[in-house]
Amino acid sequence: MSCTSIIATRSRTRCCKNSSVSSVSSVVTVLLLTAACARTPASPTSITTPTVPAPTVRVLMLSATYGFRHDSIATAAEVMPAIGRLSGLAFTATEDLSAISGSNLSNYDVLMFANTSGELPLTNDQKEAVLSFVNNGHGFVGTHSATDTLREWSDYERLVGAYVVDHPWTQQAHVLVDNATHPATGIRDPFTLEEEFYVFGSNPRPRVQVLLRLDATSVGAAGDYPLAWAQSFGNGRSYYNALGHFPATWRDARYQQQLIAGLRWASNK
Ligand SMILES: [Zn+2]
Repeated sequence: MSCTSIIATRSRTRCCKNSSVSSVSSVVTVLLLTAACARTPASPTSITTPTVPAPTVRVLMLSATYGFRHDSIATAAEVMPAIGRLSGLAFTATEDLSAISGSNLSNYDVLMFANTSGELPLTNDQKEAVLSFVNNGHGFVGTHSATDTLREWSDYERLVGAYVVDHPWTQQAHVLVDNATHPATGIRDPFTLEEEFYVFGSNPRPRVQVLLRLDATSVGAAGDYPLAWAQSFGNGRSYYNALGHFPATWRDARYQQQLIAGLRWASNK
């Protein structure tokens, strides 16, 4: 609504009361609004459109391990709820596989596998609950060794995007932004960090939207090494970020930005 239409609406409302007090009041109102509009001609929406906070994204963050256990899990469990409170995300961190059930997942928007590993002993019902949760419009997010998880469950490979097969570079390297406009990317500029960089069994690029990739030249290599991606899954969404080996990565604001964007995108809220 423009300033002009606000003034017109207020004037009509006041005029119908037909009292001198109201008439004076309506004149004052018009003058005040006119003055306010004169001071802010470039942003009429600031008067009429209240800021609506983004809806809270409820995240079940599982970090159970049945293989290698990263020290960074403790950091993730400490850092994510804290930054979530500032970003409109509510985290429930758990190591308890019984949290994976159809009834419990109904309390969440996103299921996050934070550095899970190995063959998590999920029952068929639990696996079905995970697939139904995402197929029915919710989100899945995996970090780092989420691609070293559930290798014997082919539907999970489709959900997470690929399985890691090697990590030849644990060093400082340069990460390139492959898709700066996708809402799940969360970062615009390339960056350098010390990480354990993964190589996947099959390049997920044909199946997903790659968001970040390794600058292969920064590790003296050549080729295409995606590091973060997003994909649709049924009516839901899946996001994966291969970074997250070191505790320092989880404390890095650039990584936190990526995860917040990925989680919110996956939630579709
Ligand atoms: Zn690692």
